[in-house]
Amino acid sequence: MQIGKNSVVSIHYTLTDPAGTVIDSSQGRDALPYLHGAGNIIPGLENALLGKAKGDNIKVVIQPEQGYGVKNDKLIQRVPKTAFQGVPDVKVGMQFQAQGPQGTQVVRVVEVSGDNVTVDANHPLAGVTLHFDVTVDNVRPATPEEIAHGHVHGPGGHHH
Ligand code: ZN
Repeated sequence: MQIGKNSVVSIHYTLTDPAGTVIDSSQGRDALPYLHGAGNIIPGLENALLGKAKGDNIKVVIQPEQGYGVKNDKLIQRVPKTAFQGVPDVKVGMQFQAQGPQGTQVVRVVEVSGDNVTVDANHPLAGVTLHFDVTVDNVRPATPEEIAHGHVHGPGGHHH
């Protein structure tokens, strides 16, 4: 069957950045299942997989707007080191959970300078052009329960 709305699709994928560095890959793992048309994966990849079938391979370049979004400068903030009480040595690359207006968000430390720390709440892949190499491992119709929940059940999916 062809991939369409409410297909449960399992994919093997390798994601690289424009320089060819592998960011993420399903190699050595089970294929990743998702519910097509439910926003489970980024829009650019969902669009590229529409109409494909088991065994198909696609190579697609996805711009940030169709991926993890563009970088939002408002999500980059400078805070005093004293905001990190209980963390003796704040370093670039550390991640923290912060309470923001939209609930809990993950922020990454991108700069430490004197008594100030710059944190970035953008998705790590925001602003990155994504190069996907995807092979369709399987396609099946979703169950009514999966459609109602908006996600895949069973192996690789939600268990509840
Ligand atoms: Zn469910």
